[in-house]
Amino acid sequence: MKQIIVAIDGYSSCGKSTIAKQLAQYAGYRYIDTGAMYRAVALYFIKLRVESLALSEMESSKLNELLQQIHIDFAIQPDGTQHVTLNGEDVEKQIRTLEVGNAASQIAVIPEVRRFLVAQQQQMGKNGGIVMDGRDIGTVVFPEAELKLFLTASPEVRAERRYKELIEKGEQPVMADVLADVNDRDYRDTHRAESPLKQAADAVVVDNSNMTREEQMEKIYRIFNEACK
Ligand code: C5P
Repeated sequence: MKQIIVAIDGYSSCGKSTIAKQLAQYAGYRYIDTGAMYRAVALYFIKLRVESLALSEMESSKLNELLQQIHIDFAIQPDGTQHVTLNGEDVEKQIRTLEVGNAASQIAVIPEVRRFLVAQQQQMGKNGGIVMDGRDIGTVVFPEAELKLFLTASPEVRAERRYKELIEKGEQPVMADVLADVNDRDYRDTHRAESPLKQAADAVVVDNSNMTREEQMEKIYRIFNEACK
């Protein structure tokens, strides 16, 4: 059967990565979490103590030079999960904090950063057999993807999910902050000049505010099987 490209876009914390992982497993495809790549770049600059603002004001050639020092990869673990590596170091845990998520959404507005990561994503998926999730996959990275899904859920439902995830990770979030963070990120993702988050005209929209995980996956498998025909 033909190995297609599945592009999954949507707001933060609407379950994109869980769905993408599960679909990739179902299809026997490779999964690429592009958010993790933006997070890894953000972590690199946090470690260098370079602020997002300084980056956005930096001369293009200087910034491109800095970006060339960053090598991001995905290391498959014995249990089949993937860990992001940054210049050879496993940073999977470090990139999942609220701080890095916020920094990622700030550096994601910088055109040089986007161009740097989009080129790598296109390379990773060019042969198909891939499920890639992010904000601009169906619109910019793979506008020709055979299947585009656009996931959405209400900000309150997403904040609730994010809150639970952070608690499970041992953080001590404040619900109002998490909701404000979800709203801020939505705003930045949809209003930036370079590749803003928007639904591709030919994307299938899945609003999972009131769906169980099983209902949602059943629907997505059906759509996927249809797209492979
Ligand atoms: O999906 P995740 O929350 O891990 O992504 C972190 C941040 O990276 C997002 O808030 C978004 O601003 C940015 N991002 C992006 N384009 C992508 C994936 C993520 O701008 N394709």
